[in-house]
Amino acid sequence: MSIWLIRPSSFVTTAVVGCVVWLLVLENTDWMARHDAVLGPIGLVGALALTWAMNWPQHLTFDGDRFVRRAWLRPALVLPVSDITAVAGYYLAKAGPRIAIGGSDPRLALDLMPGAADQALMLRRLGRRLEHLDMTNVIADEGTRRALGIPGGGLRDPWTPEHHIPACPACGHDWREHPGASTDAAIKGKCAECVYETKHLPRRERVTACSAEAGSWQGPAVT
Ligand SMILES: [Zn+2]
Ligand SMILES: [Zn+2]
Repeated sequence: MSIWLIRPSSFVTTAVVGCVVWLLVLENTDWMARHDAVLGPIGLVGALALTWAMNWPQHLTFDGDRFVRRAWLRPALVLPVSDITAVAGYYLAKAGPRIAIGGSDPRLALDLMPGAADQALMLRRLGRRLEHLDMTNVIADEGTRRALGIPGGGLRDPWTPEHHIPACPACGHDWREHPGASTDAAIKGKCAECVYETKHLPRRERVTACSAEAGSWQGPAVT
């Protein structure tokens, strides 16, 4: 599955706002307006450069084995799950909970928001993969374990609503992996986690991927 960490629309908005603000300042400041032929282009280039540095669109893909971060005109950053050395939750003021994922190379570090549906699913997938690889010791604490969907006591996960949908009874995977969920995770109408497992199993052990609709097994609403 893949998600935008910074959307192209966010880049465009910031660039346009920056340029408009610059032009307003330029035309309303006497000494600047006298030199607008020179200052105008310099400011516009500056506004674009700042947007490039702060708000450059980034796309993140997780295929179960590695995180690949792509940005326009920049080389792709690849963080294999086996290289992850630390997964730690923290709280960013005004932005909410975050999960920092770090490897031995600091340039590959990632930040995900467990509050966003698609990023939450990506974190759960990471949790399952860390369990398979027997690497759960890289997870910093109890709160982070919960965000990664790894059971281990403690208080209820504050990010999961109380009336949560149980895992699929057919394949046991997270309901958000299935077709019809709000996240763009299912692969060709099949549970994405099943598809991943199918690809990684030896040929003779392969089973067909589950195609149940997300939430189709949900019981009567609990009040
Ligand atoms: Zn299923
Ligand atoms: Zn499944």
